[in-house]
Amino acid sequence: MASQKIRVGIPRALLYYKFFPMWTTFFEEIGAKVIVSPKTNKILKDVAVSIAPDEDCYSTKLYFGHVMALKDKVDYLFIPRFSSGGFGKGHEKNVSCPKFIGLAEVLRSVFPDLPEIIMPYFSTAKNNHGKMKFLKYCFSIGSKFTKNPFKIRTAIKKALRNQKEHYQHIQINVDELKKWERSEIVLNETPNLEEGDAPLKVAIIGHSYVLNDPYQSIGIMNKLTIHGVDYITSEQMPRQLIERQMDYLESNMYFEYEREIIGTVMHFLESKTIDRILHLIIFSCGPDSIGGELASRFSRRKPEIPLLQLVIDEHTGTAGTNTRIEAFIDMLRRRKNIKEKEEKIKIRRKIECL
Ligand code: SF4
Repeated sequence: MASQKIRVGIPRALLYYKFFPMWTTFFEEIGAKVIVSPKTNKILKDVAVSIAPDEDCYSTKLYFGHVMALKDKVDYLFIPRFSSGGFGKGHEKNVSCPKFIGLAEVLRSVFPDLPEIIMPYFSTAKNNHGKMKFLKYCFSIGSKFTKNPFKIRTAIKKALRNQKEHYQHIQINVDELKKWERSEIVLNETPNLEEGDAPLKVAIIGHSYVLNDPYQSIGIMNKLTIHGVDYITSEQMPRQLIERQMDYLESNMYFEYEREIIGTVMHFLESKTIDRILHLIIFSCGPDSIGGELASRFSRRKPEIPLLQLVIDEHTGTAGTNTRIEAFIDMLRRRKNIKEKEEKIKIRRKIECL
């Protein structure tokens, strides 16, 4: 009889959305059975909100619900304490949200009956946390599942390759961005347009675990698509444009994932190639309180591209959001029509002057 595989549970929340190709590949390759918690839903949210500390941000609260959905089905939980991971020059000192570091310990102390938690601590902001440390962690975790170091080495290689391919798949290059700005390509779902209507171009910015979790983002992407919006997310933006914008800041934006949010806002305020920016902010998020304030200050200086900031928490209702989205679309269409009329008048006057 084939031996039972060891089951590793990965909560479908927070950094899962950034690193799932690497994590799932690694564990599968070393012979584990990976179980990912279900997509966020109302029951999971209600459980999460009832057990998580009140002062936690909404995204972290949801994490508690995902852990509960897994706890009786797995032998291990994988909750890495990931503080920062940029190996590039100048990036090694940037950090992630402190919540990512403390979460595993908090869960273990609040719920002592949880399965064993695999919780490597990794931070390139620390002097001795480089590639060697990363490999050491991988071998140490891998040895729980296999005694074959070659299997672990192959798993690491495949995991890193899959992660790289994932980034290449989501992040577009500058040429693709230009094509999208000219409406020559669609990056996400095709917008639902009436005949003769031009798509409204919107940049949706936020953390990857908000953008990629339809429950947490209240299905906003889908709603916008239905209303004829062609969107791009901050996660899809070319890295070089983000980094170029970060160079304009007077001081370093050291929250690693806030960089792509602010960089996207700055890029579109400068390029003026879209109709609006929509910022999804998680209630009581520390990094967002800095990122959100910076984004709104920059937008006040360059008001041609309006910025709408939508704060989301466990009380955010679908009905209220739908009304705001509809008002948002109406305003966009009106603005666009006025702009188009003005453009036509300008062209007519030029022709008349010939
Ligand atoms: S970055 Fe904000 S939303 Fe994300 S875990 Fe930290 S506090 Fe929560």
